[in-house]
Amino acid sequence: MTALLQVEDLHKRYALPREKLFQPPGEVHALNGVSFTIEAGRSLGIVGESGSGKSTLARLVMALDTPSSGRVRLLGRDLHALPREELRAARRDFQMVFQDPYGSLDPRQPVRRIVTEPLSAQGVSRDEMHQRATEVLQAVGLRPADLDKYPHEFSGGQRQRIAIARALVTRPRLIVADEPVSALDVSVQAQVLNLMQDLQAQFGITYMLISHDLAVVHHLCDEVAVLWQGRIVEQGPPEKLFAAAEHPYTRTLLAAVPGAEPPATPLASAGETRG
Ligand code: ADP
Ligand code: MG
Repeated sequence: MTALLQVEDLHKRYALPREKLFQPPGEVHALNGVSFTIEAGRSLGIVGESGSGKSTLARLVMALDTPSSGRVRLLGRDLHALPREELRAARRDFQMVFQDPYGSLDPRQPVRRIVTEPLSAQGVSRDEMHQRATEVLQAVGLRPADLDKYPHEFSGGQRQRIAIARALVTRPRLIVADEPVSALDVSVQAQVLNLMQDLQAQFGITYMLISHDLAVVHHLCDEVAVLWQGRIVEQGPPEKLFAAAEHPYTRTLLAAVPGAEPPATPLASAGETRG
C-alpha cells in the first residue's frame, strides 16, 4: 500500500486580538504536533470535542490555510511548498465536503453550476463539464433533471448529496469531510454515510472524516484518531478503541455512543450498520 496522505508534525498557532497596547498578543495553539498517514483507499476518522482543532486540521490538509510548521504531503508532494500554479492543478486530487448543506451551496446557482465549479480552474471543456455533471449526479443518487434545479428545492440530505457530487467532479483521490452529517436528521445520516461508503468502493476514494460523534466515524472508518487540545491522544481501529480506550477523553466519547460502553460486546452490530 502507498501513503496517499502524510501529515507530519503539524502545528498551527493563531494570534489573539491584542488586549493591551504594550503587551505582545496572545496565541491559541490550535494544533500541537499532529502526525498521521492515510493509505490509498482507506478512511481515517478524526474525532474530538468542539475546539480540539478538527476544522483547523481540515483547512491545513486542504491547503486553505498555512501551518505554523510541519508538512502535508499528498501523493508525496508537499502541498504547502508547491508553487501557486502547481497547487491549483493539484487541487483536483483533494476536495472537501462541509458540515452545513444549506450554507455551503450558493442558493443563486443551479445545481449544474454548483457541481462543476471545481472544474472551472482545471481547464475542462464545456462538453466535458456537462458530461461530468450528469455522471456525478447519478453517482450520488440524484437525477440528471435535478441539474437545472436550485438548492432550495432539495432536502438537507439531498443537498449534502449535491455537495458530495461537487467534491467528486474532479475525480479526487482524497475527500476531507468536516462533520458531513452533523446537520442532518439521524435517519438521513446513515443514508449519506452509506453513499460515501459505496462511492469509496466504486471509485477507490480515500476519506478523512471529521466528527464529534464516534458512531458516525465508526460507520465509515477503518481507523480513528482522537484529537484532544490539538494533539492526537489515541489512534487505532475503532474496534480496539471501543474495547480498550486508554485516554480518559476517549472514554468520555464512548460513553456517548449507545451500546458501546466498554467492555460490553464491542461492535456486535458493526456488520449490520455497514452496507
Ligand atoms: P474544532 O473544529 O475541533 O471545533 P477548530 O479547529 O475550529 O476546532 O478550533 C481549534 C481552536 O483554534 C479553537 O480554540 C478555536 O477558537 C481556535 N481557532 C480556530 N480558528 C481560528 C482563527 N481563525 N483565529 C483564531 N483562533 C482560531
Ligand atoms: Mg469544526
